[in-house]
Amino acid sequence: MSNLEGKIALVTGGGRGIGRAICQELAARGATIIVNYRRSGAAAAEVVAQIEKAGGAARCAQADVSDADQVTAMFKAIVSDFGTIDILVNNAGMTRDNIIMMMKPDDFDAVIETNLRSCWLCCKTAARTMMRKRSGSIINITSVVGIAGNGGQTNYAASKAGIIGLTKSLAKEVAVRGIRVNAVAPGFVETDMTADLADEIREKAIEAIPLGRMGAAQDIAKAVAFLASDEAAYITGQTLVVDGGMVM
Ligand code: NAP
Repeated sequence: MSNLEGKIALVTGGGRGIGRAICQELAARGATIIVNYRRSGAAAAEVVAQIEKAGGAARCAQADVSDADQVTAMFKAIVSDFGTIDILVNNAGMTRDNIIMMMKPDDFDAVIETNLRSCWLCCKTAARTMMRKRSGSIINITSVVGIAGNGGQTNYAASKAGIIGLTKSLAKEVAVRGIRVNAVAPGFVETDMTADLADEIREKAIEAIPLGRMGAAQDIAKAVAFLASDEAAYITGQTLVVDGGMVM
């Protein structure tokens, strides 16, 4: 399983939820992890401690990834300390749901900036280093909502559909430099993001999942680890849906 030995991996929003599971999975396969967080410093420190306890290597990096200056500073520090970056997982994300009549322009902007602009900024900054090295793997976390749409999530769906377009375009741009760019589209996963949903909505969602359960963060992490590894050496520009069969 240790197929990421010697790789340096940055996971945005790695302190909680799906990001935390991705950090743990990549670390278990031998990668050195940089756990980015915006506010959850204690949670990110806990992830680092868990990885170290298991014999791996990890470090925290605070940055709001929707802010260009903070992204530049974070990557500069990573390259200065580790010499390179091999794997970038753009996982940071948020929701601010409402029907369009009630949704404020600020709710649209905040979700686009946190989900899509951050992804573009981190891809742009990582690509510079990866292009020099002529290798790298970028995995962007989108959502089945970016493929199928979802009432009450016009902002979130637009951001996640945008990530799929970004992924394909960048994959075409950088393939010649040995860099692969893919997306993972989770379905309905147990994290803080889905914790507040009403029981009725939760039950209906599970009914629509052929495999009959919500996803675990580890389900997503395993797909990310595969795409990050050389086992996926001939895969680029793809969106891997991990949703128990919800969207086919
Ligand atoms: P979550 O538990 O709410 O965690 C969100 C993570 O994003 C946190 O670690 C948070 O860090 C980070 N984050 C948010 N804004 C940030 C920013 N500006 N800069 C840096 N980090 C930021 O969410 P999750 O469920 O794990 O979701 C992770 C990803 O999967 C998201 O992109 C989400 O859209 C996607 N997804 C989730 C589901 C699901 O069912 N849960 C389904 C499809 C797709 P701080 O706490 O430090 O702010």
